[in-house]
Amino acid sequence: MSRTLQLTEQLISRPSVTPEDAGCLDLIASRLTPLGFACERMDSGPDTFRVSNLWAVKRSAHAKAKTLVFAGHTDVVPTGPLDQWTQDPFTPTHRHGMLYGRGSSDMKASLAAMVVACEEFTAACADPSINIAFLLTSDEEGPALDGTVVVCNTLKARGERLDWCIVGEPTSVQRTGDMIKNGRRGTMSGKLTVKGVQGHIAYPQLAQNPIHLLSPALAELVTIEWDRGNAFFPPTSWQVSNIHAGTGASNVIPGACVVDFNFRFCTESTPEQLQQRLCAVLDKHGLNYDLAWTIGGLPFLTTPGDLVGAVQTAIRDETGLDTELSTTGGTSDGRFIAQVCPQVIELGPCNATIHKIDECVPVADLEPLKNIYRRVLEQLNRALA
Ligand SMILES: [Zn+2]
Repeated sequence: MSRTLQLTEQLISRPSVTPEDAGCLDLIASRLTPLGFACERMDSGPDTFRVSNLWAVKRSAHAKAKTLVFAGHTDVVPTGPLDQWTQDPFTPTHRHGMLYGRGSSDMKASLAAMVVACEEFTAACADPSINIAFLLTSDEEGPALDGTVVVCNTLKARGERLDWCIVGEPTSVQRTGDMIKNGRRGTMSGKLTVKGVQGHIAYPQLAQNPIHLLSPALAELVTIEWDRGNAFFPPTSWQVSNIHAGTGASNVIPGACVVDFNFRFCTESTPEQLQQRLCAVLDKHGLNYDLAWTIGGLPFLTTPGDLVGAVQTAIRDETGLDTELSTTGGTSDGRFIAQVCPQVIELGPCNATIHKIDECVPVADLEPLKNIYRRVLEQLNRALA
């Protein structure tokens, strides 16, 4: 059994449903410490939702060394109904060339591959020109308030310089390495309450119907071109997810209408610009409203440079694939890391079964994934040597 497969199975065996870490970070630290990593826990959060975080760094002896960070999460999403799984989700199981278990593809295979890649790189390179770090958390799948963002804030306060980051999220589609993420869109939600005056439906002159007041503004908002996107991102989109109004009675004009909406926005628009433009429409239509905003994450973009180049070359050398750069999908912890690291990409195994019943990863993809990570280390190291 390969070391990567073995470590992946050991991690799957630990039932680390968010925010539980279930000993995964200790296991990883026990592998990194003998390689010369200084391992530091940065656990955070209340006792009722304690999040485990690990910052580990192995520093080069060279003064001008740059830092490559491997980032990821040990937590997994809940299993869902156990009777629908073919086997216990926390007992790693092989069938038809696949390794089954919760977290196998999201993202314990990546964590194992990163650790073993470092073991191999360190064994072969006694005097590296790069610093290597790990930034791991047990809350990426949950609220993500005490995980990566806390570690990033601490590193920022310390003046720690990060240069490149690879997040191990499962980004591949058919084969490991066929797609990487070089950015992600931002997400911003709003809760809009349009105020009217409740009244009898037979006496509309004595009431103000907030649904009627809102309708023309809503019609205008859905037609707005917020931006046109760019070479890496689709245009910013605005979508309504919920509308609530009405008392339940058929003879009452409601007093308020509540609308939940969300922007998925690219690097062509800032949250402030989008907020201003949306409010301008509401004001133009003379609405009386309250509006609460939640910025879930800012967009990030890593344009082709030394990290993207090293990853593309590593994937081509290992698999023969020309990897596709993509910014699709939801948010990831890359949004926090991009605030302290200029180049962030995401690279991991196939994502076809993530978060599903019977999550699995092709066993044959583990060694190539580990080799790609190691080749990136070798490439970046060679460029600095
Ligand atoms: Zn994940």
